[in-house]
Amino acid sequence: MQVKRYLGTSRPWYNHCPGPLSQFTDDELLMKESVRKLAKEEIAPLVRKMEKDGKIDEGVLQKLFENGLMGIEIPDKYGGSGCNFMSTILTVEEVAKVDGAVAALVDIHNTLVNSLISKVGSEEQKAKYLPRLAQNYAGSFCLTEPGSGSDAFSLKTEAKKDGTDYVINGTKMWISNSDIAGLFIVFANANPSIGYRGITAFFVERNTPGLTVAKPEDKLGIKASGTCMIHFDNVKVPEGNILGEFGHGYKYAAGFLNEGRIGIGAQMIGVAQGCLDATIPYTLERKQFGKDIFSFQSMQHQIAQVVTDLECARLLVYNAARLVDAKKDVIKEAAMAKLVASETALRVTAKCIDFVGGVGYTTDFPQEKFFRDSKIGTIYEGTSNMQLSTIAKCIRREYS
Ligand SMILES: Cc1cc2nc3c(=O)[nH]c(=O)nc-3n(C[C@H](O)[C@H](O)[C@H](O)COP(=O)(O)OP(=O)(O)OC[C@H]3O[C@@H](n4cnc5c(N)ncnc54)[C@H](O)[C@@H]3O)c2cc1C
Repeated sequence: MQVKRYLGTSRPWYNHCPGPLSQFTDDELLMKESVRKLAKEEIAPLVRKMEKDGKIDEGVLQKLFENGLMGIEIPDKYGGSGCNFMSTILTVEEVAKVDGAVAALVDIHNTLVNSLISKVGSEEQKAKYLPRLAQNYAGSFCLTEPGSGSDAFSLKTEAKKDGTDYVINGTKMWISNSDIAGLFIVFANANPSIGYRGITAFFVERNTPGLTVAKPEDKLGIKASGTCMIHFDNVKVPEGNILGEFGHGYKYAAGFLNEGRIGIGAQMIGVAQGCLDATIPYTLERKQFGKDIFSFQSMQHQIAQVVTDLECARLLVYNAARLVDAKKDVIKEAAMAKLVASETALRVTAKCIDFVGGVGYTTDFPQEKFFRDSKIGTIYEGTSNMQLSTIAKCIRREYS
C-alpha cells in the first residue's frame, strides 16, 4: 500500500489510526454507563423537588461524592477516580440529560476547581484540598464581580499584603455552588499598580471570618444550582493560600476556562438530548388527523434537522475533549464547542416544545424546564459574543 510504504514499514501505523469521535475506551464507557444509571435512579426522582426548593438535595450531593463524580480526574492517591477529561465530559452530559442544575455543580467543581488545583497547586495544597474536594467539599470558582463580567480581568477585589498574610476585600457575583461550597478559589488583585498582572488566585475556606454568602439568586433556569453573591470583608488568609504563582491568576482563569467551556458544551448537549428523549416518543404516540404526529413529513424533517444539529454540536464537544486529553491547544475548539452546543441546545429545546404542542408549555411536561436550563449556556463562562471574539482572534492569528 502506497501510504504504508511512504511512512516506512517498521511503523505500526495501523495502531495509530484514531477511531471515530463517538468511540470510547472501556473506562470511559464504564463511567458513562454508571453515571447514566445513577442519574436515572438517584437524581431523576428528585429533579422537581430540587427545582422547587432551589437547591441540590443533600442525598444527591452525597451520592455524587460516594460515586466518584466529584473527583473524576483527581488522582487515586488523593481519593479521586483518576479518570481522563473525556470521562468528565461524558459524566456532565449524562447528568445533564436528567438535570442541568446538578450537571452545573458537577461540571464547575470538576473542570474549574479540581482541575486548577490538580494542575497548579503545590504538593502540600493538593494533599490538603483534593481529598476533601473528592469526598465531601463542593468548590466554587470566584472570578465575576458586579462590575466585571465579560471584561473579567478588570476585577476590583483586592488582596493586600499584611505581614505573612493577605487581606481580601471585595464582592464576587454569580458564583455557582456557593450556597454549599466548602472551598472558594478567589481571584483578587494583589498588586493593582501592575493591572491584570497582579491578579492572583487564593484558597478561601467557607468558615473564614469576613466571608459572607448572600441568598441564592432566583433564576430562569438551573434553579437548583445555587448562584450567590459573596462579600469579602477583611478576609485574612496566609500567604500559603496563594494557588500557583503570585500574579498568574489571569493566566489560570483564562486557561482553565477553556476546559470549563467544553464542560458547558457537554452540559448543553446533555440538556438537549434529555429533552429530545422526552419528546420523540410522544410524537410517535400522539395522534392527530388519524395518524401519529411523527408521520407528518414536516415534523420528520424538523426532528431530523435538530437531531443532526445536536450530533454536530456533540462531535465538536467530543473533539475538544479529546484534544485536552492529548494535551493540545484548545482555545478555538473550546470556544466553538461551547458556542455551537449552547446555541444548538436553545434551538433544540425550543423546537421540542413545538413538537409536543400545548402540553410542552406547561410544567407538567419536562420540555419547558430543559428549555429554561439551556439558556444559561450562552451566558456563563463567556457569552456567545465572547466565544465569537475568541474564535475570530484565532482566525486572525492563523492567517497573519
Ligand atoms: C447562573 C450563572 C452562574 C454563573 N456562575 C459563575 C461562577 O461560578 N463563577 C464566576 O466567576 N462567574 C459566574 N457567572 C458569571 C458569568 O460568567 C457572567 O455572567 C458572564 O461572563 C457575562 O458577564 P455579565 O453577566 O457581566 O455580562 P456583560 O459582560 O455585562 O455582557 C452583557 C452583554 O454585552 C455583551 N458584551 C460585553 N462585552 C462585549 C464585547 N467586548 N464584545 C461583544 N459583546 C460584548 C455580552 O456578550 C452580553 O451579551 C455565572 C453567571 C450566571 C448567570
